[in-house]
Amino acid sequence: MSAAPEPPLAQALLARLRFERAMGLECLPAAPLAPASALPVQVPAAPPPARTAPLATTVQAAPSRAPDSPAPAVLDAAERARRWSALEARALGCIKCALHQTRTNVVFGEGSRDARLVFVGEGPGADEDASGRPFVGKAGQLLDKIIGAMGLKREEVYICNVLKCRPPGNRTPNPQEIGACSPFLEEQLELLSPKVIVTLGSPATQTLLKTTDGITRLRGHWRLYKGIRVMPTYHPAFVLRQYTKETRQAVWEDMQQVIKFLSEG
Ligand code: SF4
Repeated sequence: MSAAPEPPLAQALLARLRFERAMGLECLPAAPLAPASALPVQVPAAPPPARTAPLATTVQAAPSRAPDSPAPAVLDAAERARRWSALEARALGCIKCALHQTRTNVVFGEGSRDARLVFVGEGPGADEDASGRPFVGKAGQLLDKIIGAMGLKREEVYICNVLKCRPPGNRTPNPQEIGACSPFLEEQLELLSPKVIVTLGSPATQTLLKTTDGITRLRGHWRLYKGIRVMPTYHPAFVLRQYTKETRQAVWEDMQQVIKFLSEG
């Protein structure tokens, strides 16, 4: 006889314990967070009347797509596959910026092309450059734990970066490099058309949302990118560098919002 399904509150608490264990939180915080099913629902933001939809908008809570956002074009499976192949081939042969001279591999991105959740980071590091895969170093291992604690598998989400080639020494990419590479990400997101994008760290968040605000200010607040919900949060590499309870707790809170929104359908 199969076990009875866990009630929502128990599910939420189990998810939270999984996440805390993954993030190394040894004890519950003094002021416990509401479980996912009981998180306060923020007031929907009525979209302001505008002739054209802004690229990125703050959103308190809203339908998955802003009413004034253009509906994503529906591609048939064959056309979608053709565009994915063409896009990946263009990226793998790209020499649009100087980073092609120092890369070992182009790190295009990986995961489910039907993913409802996409993680976007800044760019490949040494491990990623060597393997051609995104988020496979220490930060990637932490991201895997975060994804697992959210009740998902890595292969169920899509993971990519703004930059497809590693900046030497992991230096911050310059605006020309970001400008040259962003169209790849934009087309990936168009083809994926996910329900939620999680941006990891300032560069990815600032690039996608066209803002100069820092991640500390942006994290935890829903935004919109072309009608798709965006949740900015800290980059796992930052969490590893700043391995405090507060930082880990902040990521957990952000992911709780994502879990809740995804669970709503
Ligand atoms: S970083 Fe992007 S734009 Fe620059 S060479 Fe690599 S793929 Fe092309």
